[in-house]
Amino acid sequence: MKKMRRTLALFNTLTRRVDPVVPILDGQISLYTCGPTVYNYAHIGNLRTFLFQDLLKRTFRAGGYEVSHCMNITDVEDKIIRDSQGALPADASNAERHGAMTALTDRFTAIFLEDLDTLRIQRADFLPKATAYVPQMIRLIRALEAKGLAYVREGSVYYRIAGLPQYGCLAHLNREGMQAGASVDADEYERDSVTDFVLWKATKPGEPWWDSPWGPGRPGWHIECSAMGMELLGERVDIHSGGVDLIFPHHENEIAQSEGCLGHQWVNHWVHGEFLMVEGQKMAKSLGNFFTLRDLIEKGVDPIALRYAIQSNHYRKVLNFSFEGLRAAENALKRIRAFRTRMEGEGQPGGGPWKEAMDPLARLEQAREAFWAAMADDLNTPEALAAIFTLVSDLNAQDDHVALTREERDAVLAFLDETDAIFSAWPQATDSLNAEVEALIEARRAAKAAKNWAEADQVRDQLKALGIVLEDRKDGTTGWRRA
Ligand code: AMP
Ligand code: ZN
Repeated sequence: MKKMRRTLALFNTLTRRVDPVVPILDGQISLYTCGPTVYNYAHIGNLRTFLFQDLLKRTFRAGGYEVSHCMNITDVEDKIIRDSQGALPADASNAERHGAMTALTDRFTAIFLEDLDTLRIQRADFLPKATAYVPQMIRLIRALEAKGLAYVREGSVYYRIAGLPQYGCLAHLNREGMQAGASVDADEYERDSVTDFVLWKATKPGEPWWDSPWGPGRPGWHIECSAMGMELLGERVDIHSGGVDLIFPHHENEIAQSEGCLGHQWVNHWVHGEFLMVEGQKMAKSLGNFFTLRDLIEKGVDPIALRYAIQSNHYRKVLNFSFEGLRAAENALKRIRAFRTRMEGEGQPGGGPWKEAMDPLARLEQAREAFWAAMADDLNTPEALAAIFTLVSDLNAQDDHVALTREERDAVLAFLDETDAIFSAWPQATDSLNAEVEALIEARRAAKAAKNWAEADQVRDQLKALGIVLEDRKDGTTGWRRA
């Protein structure tokens, strides 16, 4: 059966509206997300952004699209150089400098990918490292030079922002305030100092370098994403995303580089996630107010509860991190998982006819439509989850009175699978519970067959401790339900 394709809309930073995403190629979405700078552990603020992008990607996939996702790994950049070169002697060779940089970035790339797995963030189809695309970056800078959009000063190359009429379109900058001709070497700077930015940095003592037409040097941060994005996803891209701090200057500069070279629009939809905050301040390494995922796991936090706590809040609202928030997420997940277990089991003879009885399949369809209407409207997860929770209450109440049939239970389970393809938080827990319960039931059956009644009783008690009640049926099989 051909999967139904849903129309999904997202807030576009470029237009400042929630616009439907109309793919360039029918049914296919190309997605570029700016990846981590791998010089240290990611903090859960960074991970909020990656969790939001996982939600975005999974929603398109569940909505019937093919998604081609590229996430870069920034493995050459100012902070990486700062942290990797300190132990080397002043006369270290370029090869030694590159070696030290790669040792640091390989280590933290592996740790980052492990964190993604722990949070069930699906890997991108392309995970390019910036250092593997330096020739493409050089070619792009050459193309900008040929168009009069780049100039050289003391071995570094800068972008001439006055040469691009649309400069400022993403961050909605006032062109009057721009300082034409002035230039910055830092990759990160504030919007009140809009100036020509660096594309290629002449090498300084103590830094690893590459050969280039402008002498030894290294790429600026912004050119990395333009070069990798254009190489791997092409000249027209559906969606490009990052945290709100990347709107300016990083994404503004990416547009300048790519569109300056291409001569046409590069990305249709720019989508930005809000910050994770701690006591009213952005969680940031530089402020020292951060937790890593590993810190939280050490404190006994379930990473999937963190996943849920973050994804259940709207991605465009700032979110204050708190342990109460995590506890609320754990409780919400318990409720939905218990409902799933109940639907997996058989219905119990209930309290008989009920005045509020409804058609469970019609009720289910209503919930499915409400869920998708919310997700299609700029990934409105609080409303989408509310649709699931009202369904859970309604069907729990109904099942207490008039048990849902097997067919109805299976239809509900299919909806829980459909929504879990996005949230990835409710089947696995019951799956492992199922496996454990099934193994214990089998152990009890074997004990009974061997007339080892003491052991059979002991297994029954073990199951009871897990909150499981057994029902021996007339046909000799054993069913189970949650107490
Ligand atoms: P970095 O590794 O510093 O390049 O950042 C990776 C991603 O994390 C970028 O998309 C940032 O926008 C994002 N980010 C950084 N701090 C936060 C925060 N406190 N909350 C949400 N996202 C953040
Ligand atoms: Zn980027």
